Amino acid sequence: MIEENVKNLLAEIPATNPQGEKVTLVAAIKMQTPEDINRAICAGISAIGDNHVQEFKDKYDLIRGNPERHFIGHLQTNKVKYLIGKVDLYHSVDRYNLAEEISKRSAAAGIVSAVLVQINIGNEETKGGFELDEAEEACKNISAMPGIEIKGLMAMLPFIDDHAELRRLATLMRDKYDGLKAIFPQFEHLSMGMSGDWKLCIECGSNMVRIGTAIFGPRNYNH
Ligand SMILES: *Cc1c(COP(=O)(O)O)cnc(C)c1O
Repeated sequence: MIEENVKNLLAEIPATNPQGEKVTLVAAIKMQTPEDINRAICAGISAIGDNHVQEFKDKYDLIRGNPERHFIGHLQTNKVKYLIGKVDLYHSVDRYNLAEEISKRSAAAGIVSAVLVQINIGNEETKGGFELDEAEEACKNISAMPGIEIKGLMAMLPFIDDHAELRRLATLMRDKYDGLKAIFPQFEHLSMGMSGDWKLCIECGSNMVRIGTAIFGPRNYNH
């Protein structure tokens, strides 16, 4: 099941987006067992993304195959210390004090951590991130921090059925990404797209999708 889902997804996801950039699939592994995660890795997943620091710590040594480790969820500042040096890409830098903490801890460890700046593209109260209009200033301020390198932007589209509106928002994200890439040439990733909207997001210029349900099935929130 998991193996088949991964193989189907890897076949379905285009190798490149319309801009000609390679598209990376990150498996969203929240609430999944190490066994299931390892199955997905065996089937071809090369990057995994966790949401919870405790789960990240518990599973860290049980993951096989040396995938890239991403952190994709909301991150409490006081938990950053558990992740430093273990995360290849932080997707969800959604506020300055989180960026400062990652930078400070990274610099103290003698490393530079790669991050994406999260944009609240739908201006949703329930979601974190900078507003689209704040993105340039946020990237300037955060890129001045010594322990951080910004590699791009991340966004979650609203859970709505209006495809025209979703396309409009995803395209706004891509336009912002292009504008900022002219200022920050190290930009590589536009992380946008989940199980329900990854196709649309890639068509609009995403080059990194974070997919959970379409790999592992519906999450069981009871255990
Ligand atoms: C859970 C999660 C995903 C994956 O969601 P699915 O709909 O299960 O594919 C992607 N991004 C983030 C930040 C998540 O928390």
